[in-house]
Amino acid sequence: MFQCLVDTTGMDRLCFIVQGERYTREDIARRYDCWQAALARAHQVRHHPMCMCKPSGVPMVVAKREDFFVRRFPSRGADHAPDCRSHELVSELAELQADKPSTTLSYQAHRYVTSAVDRVRRDYRKPDPTPAAVKTSTLREILSALWHRAGLCRYAPDRARCGWPRHRSALRFASHQLQLSDAELSPRLALTGEAQLRDFLRQMEQQQSAAREIRFICGPLEMTKLTANDAVLRFRGEQTAFWSQDKSCVNAAQAAFDLATTMARAEVYALIAVYWDRNFRVHDTAFVAVADEGVPIIGNLHAALYGQLIERQIPFFLPKGAMIEPENYPLLSLPKTDKGPLSVVSDADAPHASKAFYPPFVWSIGQPLPVS
Ligand SMILES: [Zn+2]
Repeated sequence: MFQCLVDTTGMDRLCFIVQGERYTREDIARRYDCWQAALARAHQVRHHPMCMCKPSGVPMVVAKREDFFVRRFPSRGADHAPDCRSHELVSELAELQADKPSTTLSYQAHRYVTSAVDRVRRDYRKPDPTPAAVKTSTLREILSALWHRAGLCRYAPDRARCGWPRHRSALRFASHQLQLSDAELSPRLALTGEAQLRDFLRQMEQQQSAAREIRFICGPLEMTKLTANDAVLRFRGEQTAFWSQDKSCVNAAQAAFDLATTMARAEVYALIAVYWDRNFRVHDTAFVAVADEGVPIIGNLHAALYGQLIERQIPFFLPKGAMIEPENYPLLSLPKTDKGPLSVVSDADAPHASKAFYPPFVWSIGQPLPVS
């Protein structure tokens, strides 16, 4: 069951000492509860566990999200042995609970060229070479990063039914922590219902330059409609409409609306990339159905699971990446069940089942979960 956690390339030598107790990587996987209890005690007294990659040990920090985990001191990686893989374990655990400390996103289209002259020039010019190291992010990846960083991919029993105003503050907070290329995402993102939105739109309208800046708007979607030449998108409670030449966005939005109807009080949120060209034009769209608690509904199986879990106030979280490639990830993880932590999978033979960090639990609609 824990095969994926034991390898022969150095990871199996990984070892931590927490207040005199020794934990190998395998111990952490097999006795996760003991590991959590040890870290909770260490956290309380501000004890630094030691990474034993060097005989003298290298101090680590205990951090807490839903669970406790250890991570390296910032910029002290050089203190560890060259073959120390503690950062990989940390990112593996962090994958479960949180984001990596620095997620840098890079959106392909920073500027959209709108004047006729530039449009011609752009068409005949070879595209600017993109440095190979810079992977451009899709809008969906930006949406996923925002949701994870805002803590909206986790459900805890104290999470009230709260809707957009509360999710909006969480997303605004997250936008300050995310980098888009070399700048903060925050100034380029407007959230609907915020006082700044009107100023943000006015600024876009007044931009004089031919190359219009791409900006992002996120909020609950009220409707999408096809016209003769365009698709029109409107956010709930907003006067401004946004025009898209890509009519397929209406289908994508409809799929999210269909998913939202599977849960009470669910809504569809849109993240759109926009520029101004005599109108607010949509460059790209990403839609997500969201439960009232803020958790994204990725598919019907997720909606059915949420129904059981949220009603019974059982904590869960979505793996990072699940919003982008759901087929490659377990449906969700349950840190507290009668059988210990479990990753819920839909099929024991699916590739994602072997990638589950927690022991996989095969679940289908209508089946009870091992939680009391
Ligand atoms: Zn180390």
